[in-house]
Amino acid sequence: MAPPAKPFSEVVKTVPPSGIRKFFDLAQSMQGVISLGVGEPDFPTPWSAREAAIHALEHGATTYTSNSGLLELREEVCSDLADRYRVRYRPEDECLITSGVSEGLDLTLRALLNPGDEVIVPEPCYVAYAPCVAFAGGTPVPVALDPADAYRLDPALIGAAVTGRTKAILFGSPSNPTGSAQSADDLRALAALAVEHDLWLLSDEIYDRLTYQGTHTPASAADGAWERTVLLGGFSKSYAMTGWRVGYVCAPEPLAALMHRIHQYTMLCAPHMSQIAALEAMRTAQDEVEDMVADYDRRRRLFAKGLDELGLTCPEPGGAFYVFPSIRTTGMSSEEFAEGLLTQEKVAVVPGGVFGPSGEGHVRCSYATALPQLEQALERIARFIS
Ligand code: PLP
Repeated sequence: MAPPAKPFSEVVKTVPPSGIRKFFDLAQSMQGVISLGVGEPDFPTPWSAREAAIHALEHGATTYTSNSGLLELREEVCSDLADRYRVRYRPEDECLITSGVSEGLDLTLRALLNPGDEVIVPEPCYVAYAPCVAFAGGTPVPVALDPADAYRLDPALIGAAVTGRTKAILFGSPSNPTGSAQSADDLRALAALAVEHDLWLLSDEIYDRLTYQGTHTPASAADGAWERTVLLGGFSKSYAMTGWRVGYVCAPEPLAALMHRIHQYTMLCAPHMSQIAALEAMRTAQDEVEDMVADYDRRRRLFAKGLDELGLTCPEPGGAFYVFPSIRTTGMSSEEFAEGLLTQEKVAVVPGGVFGPSGEGHVRCSYATALPQLEQALERIARFIS
């Protein structure tokens, strides 16, 4: 029998598949590959969190929780944000536990956008931003950030892209793929721009604990920003909990209620046992998080310096676990470089172009890989470019 002939969603058809996947699949099919390709911690989830989930399963935590998530977890998230950053959200109605930042992002955009609304997406950026804007009926407007300016969210560059249809600016700090962490001054200027043009700031802070040069600054801490900022946070990276699918979104009312409404019908709740594990991680795994951050920091310095010495210009990034070196001196495109390095030297990296047009001429390397492997990767890269 023939399938229905009526057309599929026009929007979904226009969004290309993720460029990361292609390299991931190729690397997986080969033996002896050093993978610097995936954005995933190489540490196991802290044992206390795993144990809490095992205990929870043994005691029947296999049900739905409240749609908003366990109140205790929301309280822990909100008091942590207040303690560390002095940003205050009410656990009752301004904080929602989601199935990862991914769900939070989707809810935010669907709750905010009407067809044709524009969202400024400074790039290079996380691969899901522009597709999620499009899925929600909006139009992503890329703005190229300047590598020579450490991929700063330069308010002048962003301001120049604002039109009468602009609804929001979507960005991550610290950033995937560049590792850049935005300064308090730039976030303040961005908040002023948002006030001037009546915009929302959609701030993906999933790497907030992974900062190496000073502490993280949340966008909602800037003067005038709180009322127009959505803070997206999660457990995947800081607590090595990618597979648990748990995160949170904090936003002022009435936007928070609209997100809650979508979540209530589409997801119901984040996984119960994962919420219990996340709560335990927050309460008992801070030392382990500090150890992971110290380890990432050692790798970051070694790897950025090593690449720089090979002539692949690589400023030390301030956060996350990525470096984004320039490969322009090789004369290759980022796709040629990544493909050649994988097939000839078995090192997987991601071509910068998949993170937006201005990522071309760079590759993303994740240093969520043990130091000896990073050292070996540097030797292989040296051989490849020589
Ligand atoms: N935001 C950024 C910037 C990311 O790098 C990732 C994952 O790589 C996500 C969000 C997805 O996070 P989660 O696992 O919480 O859905």
